[in-house]
Amino acid sequence: MQLNTQIDQTLTEPLSSYIPRGQNVLQTVFKVHFDNFREVYDEKYSKTYGKYRIDRITEVVEEFIKCGDYKEGLARIKCTSPDCGHDYFVPLSCKGFYLCPSCHQKRTLLFSEQITQEVLLMLPHRQWVFCIPKCLRVFFKHDRMLFSDISRLIFQMLQSYYDNVSANFIQTGAIIAYESAGDFLRWNAHWHGLVLEGGFDEEGGFVYLPISDTKRMTELFRRLVIKYFQEKKLITERFARNLLSWKNSGFSVDNSIRIYGNDHKAREALAQYIAKPPVSLEKIKYEPFHEKVLYKTPKYNAYFKENFKFFDVLDFIAALTAHIPPKGKQYIRRYGLYSSRTRGIWLGMEFCIRLAPPGWKEKYLDNPADSKQISAEIPECSMEKKVEKSTWARLIKKVYGTDPLKCPRCGSEMKILAIIMDPGETEKILRHLAKIGRPPPNFDPASMN
Ligand SMILES: [Zn+2]
Ligand SMILES: [Zn+2]
Repeated sequence: MQLNTQIDQTLTEPLSSYIPRGQNVLQTVFKVHFDNFREVYDEKYSKTYGKYRIDRITEVVEEFIKCGDYKEGLARIKCTSPDCGHDYFVPLSCKGFYLCPSCHQKRTLLFSEQITQEVLLMLPHRQWVFCIPKCLRVFFKHDRMLFSDISRLIFQMLQSYYDNVSANFIQTGAIIAYESAGDFLRWNAHWHGLVLEGGFDEEGGFVYLPISDTKRMTELFRRLVIKYFQEKKLITERFARNLLSWKNSGFSVDNSIRIYGNDHKAREALAQYIAKPPVSLEKIKYEPFHEKVLYKTPKYNAYFKENFKFFDVLDFIAALTAHIPPKGKQYIRRYGLYSSRTRGIWLGMEFCIRLAPPGWKEKYLDNPADSKQISAEIPECSMEKKVEKSTWARLIKKVYGTDPLKCPRCGSEMKILAIIMDPGETEKILRHLAKIGRPPPNFDPASMN
């Protein structure tokens, strides 16, 4: 498969390794400078990055600083076999997505695994990228929920294109991911889509509808977005007319990457790509003496005419924390056939079932080998739990190379026995483990002195 040069290295190979927990350079930067950043935020950064953000940022950062630190909390995992009793401790994680590289990467892996195994039909898909002009991107900084309307607008646009071009009602599916960060963490609100190339007509047959004319699609996208901004009274009619008159519109639509139904690796890599974290640890270098952060990218950036950038450390914190989403908000949305709520629709569509990915068949069909046999009922809640459990176990296996829920000594199941958060208690345990010569991996016993 030929890859677009816009797409970085992560695309060619799905991730298979996992960033080990423990103190990293980003945690050091926040430990040393965050209090200072917090103090100056309203005065120095709120105008650029949004008002009333610092409490949300603080909440995420405080957890992030502790992420993977054994001293902040432990989970004790023990073998269920009474003859064995093997046990070990793992640190707790922060779940600070879009900030914590370790937690975000874990989620990226989970997401791509689930999307590839259980969501994307074994049919051709396209990766789409939708960009908007700079003068409109800023609105997404100050209204943090605006993105979701544009995600929906993108899906509806593709859906109506399919309906129109086939003169039929087509059921299609898409995953639209909003991404606020561009190169060097700069604010670049844009969208990625994993979109089914076509859909099912009313008879249940698949209609293949590849879109090649992105020029017209760009024009449609441009008009829809401008109309949306005008209707929301975010821009004036005059400004809207002005935007429509620009020769170089600043809007762009790209769909040059196609993924074939059976190319499992490419599907997974693309799913990872649209869920990737804004920053990776390999790209940053902290220079404490100069209070600077050096940010490197593997490829030359035409915008900055460089492949590295020096940040004042507080500016770096501002640029990075700008991408933390509002509490509980998902930047990745699923629509149509791929919407989590309507997955039951598949069971009523025989053709769709036959094209379902293997993980989906295993989960929803009584006899996955024989696709025609359909289980009548889908218990929605219990299913979700099951999904989570099986995905989790599979993923852990994948990222560690072993299954930590399986005892390395006897092969029995391991269970989380206790979660210890009390600082006195965790210290006691860690000292004891160091004393008996069993300190946990990535833990330096000297850090307790
Ligand atoms: Zn974390
Ligand atoms: Zn055991």
